[in-house]
Amino acid sequence: CGIFAYLNYHVPRTRREILEILLKGLLRLEYRGYDSAGVGIDGGNSKEWEANARSIQLIKQSGKVKALDDELTKQQDMDMDVEFDVHLGIAHTRWATHGAPSPVNSHPQRSDKSNEFIVIHNGIITNYKDLQKFLESKGYEFESETDTETIAKLVKYMYDNRESEDLSFATLVERVTQQLEGAFVLVFKSVHYPGEAVGTRRGGPLLIGVKSDHKLSTDHIPILYRSCTLLAGKDKKGCPTLPRMEQDTCHTLFAEEKKSVEYYFASDASAVIEHTNRVIFLEDDDVAAVTAGRLTIHRIKRTAGDHPARAIQTLQ
Ligand code: GLU
Repeated sequence: CGIFAYLNYHVPRTRREILEILLKGLLRLEYRGYDSAGVGIDGGNSKEWEANARSIQLIKQSGKVKALDDELTKQQDMDMDVEFDVHLGIAHTRWATHGAPSPVNSHPQRSDKSNEFIVIHNGIITNYKDLQKFLESKGYEFESETDTETIAKLVKYMYDNRESEDLSFATLVERVTQQLEGAFVLVFKSVHYPGEAVGTRRGGPLLIGVKSDHKLSTDHIPILYRSCTLLAGKDKKGCPTLPRMEQDTCHTLFAEEKKSVEYYFASDASAVIEHTNRVIFLEDDDVAAVTAGRLTIHRIKRTAGDHPARAIQTLQ
């Protein structure tokens, strides 16, 4: 099973190019094993990237990545030559744990029929039944048999019930992860946060490749050590080790505004190496968010998620 996401920020890419990058990423992760695959991309055909980001298109298929590719060529309503100045595409290969392999059980899973929030997930959510019961009591109807669908619906529930208009995507996801039990690697995309990506992990691998022709800056030097040339064929031992980030600390990377940059989220370095050798390996409880081309990593405090009984209570 594998996760791959690609975000281009002020690097114009056609839809065709974006899909090629996503599928190639999935093919590199094939060796991990999977039974189905899917992608989530922007749906519109306008010349304005922001207008296109107001709708999300899901294409999912059981079987090989090739079957997904065939499914993509059947999509009549998507103009493959439309160019996106900014775009987030997310892609997944699934190894089913809850629910048989089928298009509806494939990822991305979605919050609702209009795809307001979508998520890809590797792992297992052990308290999904409690979460599902809670969400059903709030009127949510489930379409798949996956544990993952509860995450997609929970993020919408928390967004719809947010206390302030300017809730960031990262904070929203942090709140969601605090309700989750089990192991997970997640990447989220939403029509409410155009051109933004949020990824997080607990008990599984997630890394972020960064590619830019511009000088990249950071407010935290040790983090750059983590992105040292691990992938450029250099001896791993040559890399200084990073002191573990304290809980509840935050680092912003590559903070130059309006400069073109590309980000690759992946379960495995083999999917990123052809694009860049600048890689940041996330650790458990890191929430990484790209907003306006800027990557921020926050190591969160695990709270309610450690206590299943409390988790549901804090939701209401
Ligand atoms: N538990 C999730 C599912 O069955 C994710 C499986 C995976 O890691 O691919 O859909």
